[in-house]
Amino acid sequence: MLNVDLHCHSNVSDGVLPPAAVAEHAHKAGVNVWALTDHDEVGGVATARAAAQLYGMRFVSGVEISITWAGETVHIVGLQLDENNATLLKGLEDTRSGRDNRGREIGRQLELAGIPGAYEGALHYVDNPSLMSRTHFARFLVEQGICSSVPEVFRKYLSPGKPGFVEHRWASLQDAVGWILGAGGIAVIAHPGRYKFTPLQEGVLFDEFKQLGGTAIEVVTGSHTPDQYPKYANLANSYGFLASRGTDFHAPGEARVDFRLLPPLPGNVTPVWHDWF
Ligand code: AMP
Ligand code: MN
Ligand code: MN
Ligand code: MN
Repeated sequence: MLNVDLHCHSNVSDGVLPPAAVAEHAHKAGVNVWALTDHDEVGGVATARAAAQLYGMRFVSGVEISITWAGETVHIVGLQLDENNATLLKGLEDTRSGRDNRGREIGRQLELAGIPGAYEGALHYVDNPSLMSRTHFARFLVEQGICSSVPEVFRKYLSPGKPGFVEHRWASLQDAVGWILGAGGIAVIAHPGRYKFTPLQEGVLFDEFKQLGGTAIEVVTGSHTPDQYPKYANLANSYGFLASRGTDFHAPGEARVDFRLLPPLPGNVTPVWHDWF
């Protein structure tokens, strides 16, 4: 039986385990088709592929690209791509380039909110210097006892309208989809249920994405609530999108849903992997 997980993070972005350890973790949970999809970075893909081979899992190269669309941050997952494609690598490098300055500004904003030393504190959790993420700040706030969990941090800090949030302009939808398709890959809208769009805006996003050559949306993801699984299964069908599935794993114990608890795709969708094997 296929057990497919096409959305995971390593310490090459804001996960805590090295790529090979994420592979081991996924394998032990029963995953046999696996993709590493670090934020804005494919530096872990080669190691992940080798580890997947070791554990007998089919490997899918991947990335999760941060974009700005209609003033909001949206994530586009790329799968089955050539991680050595020069245009993709340049695009990802440009996307990462603003992260350190943004991190310094997040630190200043948190200091104004009465939390000093957050930039330095968050840096302790960063393994890839070009990939400082809000998740690293969230771990620091938990360490300081300011919040008791990473999700609680995002409810109280670092999110739009909350202390420590810093506006940032990421890549465009057109660029991200273009880089993915140019590298021979498949573009997927990550966790569509997480964005604060009206149904109308969401429809425009789906239409634009489709027009640009995007082919799939995530339906079952650790970043969706269970009532969103059937909702996005139906939307995938009505827009003619394939459906993807992944935990959005970042760290043991930090996940909203662990590998073993994530349900399979609903039976009425066409899985994004339907013609891969
Ligand atoms: P960044 O790319 O630096 O803006 O950070 C985005 C990351 O923050 C996401 O990939 C998640 O790992 C994490 N994140 C955002 N919102 C939440 C949330 N509500 N709960 C847990 N993690 C979150
Ligand atoms: Mn993340
Ligand atoms: Mn995401
Ligand atoms: Mn993710």
